Amino acid sequence: MKKIDINNPIILKNKIALSTNIFEGSTIYEYGVEVKFKCPICQTNNNVIIDDNTGNLLEDLYIRKKLITKKEILKNNIAKESPHIYRHLGELMIFQNLSALYLFSKCNNCEAKFMTSFSFGESQPSRNVCYISGVWLIDEINTV
Ligand SMILES: [Zn+2]
Repeated sequence: MKKIDINNPIILKNKIALSTNIFEGSTIYEYGVEVKFKCPICQTNNNVIIDDNTGNLLEDLYIRKKLITKKEILKNNIAKESPHIYRHLGELMIFQNLSALYLFSKCNNCEAKFMTSFSFGESQPSRNVCYISGVWLIDEINTV
């Protein structure tokens, strides 16, 4: 599936069930992580590859881009407030000691759009983790 940019505010719809939401080991750096799921609108199988260059800071969504509120992010368990000792990584946390990230993508077959929220990196010395907190079907709110 194609990674896309979104510039209009979004609303979260269904949360997509994933067969696994945690990937570990050094291979995540070599090959990235393939997240597979079925589009709930057209039933097409989609996959998105996440590697250590994928994604933007989740807090950009409400601080800079204003696409969703922090309250919505917390309410839907996309991320939690960072404990004080991790504040240098941002206000939000998905997995211990890693930045909270997101990406937007579009179904291979229809117009459905998705948000994936995750953390990727070395959580502890030699513990490489990609943790997906969720994939959501989303709608853009046209503000014009
Ligand atoms: Zn679709």
